[in-house]
Amino acid sequence: MSGNPKKEHLFKVLVIGDLGVGKTSFIKRYVHQFFSVHYRATIGVDFALKVINWDEDTLIRLQLWDIAGQERFGNMTRVYYKEAVAAMIVFDCTRQSTFDAILTWKNDLDSKVLLPNGEPVPCLLLSNKCDEPKDGNLSNPSFLDSFCKQEGFIGWFDTSAKHNINVSESATFLVKHILETT
Ligand code: GDP
Ligand code: MG
Repeated sequence: MSGNPKKEHLFKVLVIGDLGVGKTSFIKRYVHQFFSVHYRATIGVDFALKVINWDEDTLIRLQLWDIAGQERFGNMTRVYYKEAVAAMIVFDCTRQSTFDAILTWKNDLDSKVLLPNGEPVPCLLLSNKCDEPKDGNLSNPSFLDSFCKQEGFIGWFDTSAKHNINVSESATFLVKHILETT
């Protein structure tokens, strides 16, 4: 006897944040399980697909949308944001300026895409390069906790694409949230 067909989901997730914070490295680490210092800067928009056997009955296709070459504008076109169900905003914890840019990215996101129910898309904050010494306040977990609460992030993780710290954990956290809210 054959079992029930699996339920399949396709989730489009945006990975945004300033140039050099490690967006492409994070995606490569998560999807292809490697880290390289030799990435060519991709031009335009690129996405990578991660297929997750979530549980016995559920298969998830997670599309992670990368950006490149457009970070310096702090905004993206509506086409890029279209039909996204979640986002990760990444900063580099060794550079305060990349943290200061987060709200520009968050505002751009919230002004250009909403869930079908009119709510903002769930957004996770990633403090990448946690293998390096942190800049000022960015080493203070309770500062980040209250920042997330105040600015409507679902949470934050210290990550290192380089040392593979919290990469799959943060993605799983986001997927769990998507499944619970859609
Ligand atoms: P993007 O512009 O946001 O896509 O950033 P990249 O993924 O191209 O990474 C920018 C630079 O940061 C590269 O030199 C990476 O090797 C480096 N990098 C990325 N992630 C990490 C990390 O977790 N730790 C450290 N130490 N360096 C990283
Ligand atoms: Mg990149």
